[in-house]
Amino acid sequence: MRKILLLCLFVFSTISLFGQTTYILCGKLIDTKSGTIKSKQTIVVQENKISNVIDGYVIPRSKTDKLIDLKNKVVMPGLIDMHVHIENEFGPRTRLDRYVLDEADVAFNSVGFAKTTLLKGFTTVRDLGGTGVNISIRKAIDAGKIPGPRVFTAGKSLATTGGHADPTNGSRRVLIGDPGPKEGIVNSVEDAKKAVRQRYKNGADCIKITATGGVLSVAKSGDNPQFTVEEIKAICETAKDYGMHVAAHAHGDEGMQRAIIGGVKTIEHGTYMSEATMDLMKKHDVYLVPTITAGKEVEEKAKVKGYYPEIVVPKALAVGPQIQGTFKKAYKRGVGIAFGTDAGVFKHGNNGKEFGYMVEAGMPAMETIQSATITNAKILKMDTEIGQIAKGFYADIIAVDEDPTKNIKTMEKVVFVMKNGVVYKKE
Ligand SMILES: [Zn+2]
Repeated sequence: MRKILLLCLFVFSTISLFGQTTYILCGKLIDTKSGTIKSKQTIVVQENKISNVIDGYVIPRSKTDKLIDLKNKVVMPGLIDMHVHIENEFGPRTRLDRYVLDEADVAFNSVGFAKTTLLKGFTTVRDLGGTGVNISIRKAIDAGKIPGPRVFTAGKSLATTGGHADPTNGSRRVLIGDPGPKEGIVNSVEDAKKAVRQRYKNGADCIKITATGGVLSVAKSGDNPQFTVEEIKAICETAKDYGMHVAAHAHGDEGMQRAIIGGVKTIEHGTYMSEATMDLMKKHDVYLVPTITAGKEVEEKAKVKGYYPEIVVPKALAVGPQIQGTFKKAYKRGVGIAFGTDAGVFKHGNNGKEFGYMVEAGMPAMETIQSATITNAKILKMDTEIGQIAKGFYADIIAVDEDPTKNIKTMEKVVFVMKNGVVYKKE
């Protein structure tokens, strides 16, 4: 009797410890750490983690184990996009959205955007600003209620009065009001601290500031500096107290320099970046998030009459065409590059186009993939958990049909997606 009991206990503990094991046979496997492609590898997945990566093909012996055959695919870690807006997708009606959509409408829209993003191979995203619904989206995804990528969100972006992320820009006077730190509007060092603490209280994971004017806001300048260095320093120091890093939207050079000196971790877009600023970024270990896809999109849509408000059109035509060229120069000068697209400014799911644009501008294909995996994982302080296919990492695994170092366009057609050990797509 005691023997049977012991045996039962042993079997039970084995099952609960190991659960189902999945063997993924990979014809080719990208090792993002070394930047090499290995042939004939088997990834062993237990629960939500990778428990082993083995040379050659290993066939499971137990009937309860699962086999996934990707022998004619190229397998790599799930991709990370450092700049998306999971709550919305820009269109000619966007200016109205603020006045006609309830939070529930925003939430329902975003359910589709999150799913599309995941199915295109992006298993982690950093969301850089919305209304705050983005925090609820993260919770719903984490709880398994809706499919979507792992989300790090800034909640609502921080801006100055009339700045790029002031939510009442361009409204009639009775609707303008006077938003403050609670709504993400900062006009002093004290406001800056309060606005960051409020984001923390709301449940944000990181902080986004709009350090200069921007293209799509209903305001005249697309590149003027909009914070003082002191305000940015207060934001970055307070964010650090709460374990958060700061991302800075910036097109103009002066605003970019203030953001870097102030202590931000990433510069988004970087359009009019001078060589001196590039060197400053290297010195302060600040990364450029290129968003070339967004640049191409605004340039194209600005030519469609009525698509953007009148005041936006000249900004879109000036800024859009510059972004890829700036990326090219910054990469060549040795600035760290963190893959990010600004999805939401263009259709969610087209994030993979960015790879092609980066390669076109001179970055080798393998480096673009490393940027979208190990570099971004490091910035998110998750470099021992995501961005690699290695023992102990989360089972975030995707596959494409072709070798991306030979055809980068293959990154736009992801055929297999596993996140956290769960298969979401298998073509
Ligand atoms: Zn953005």
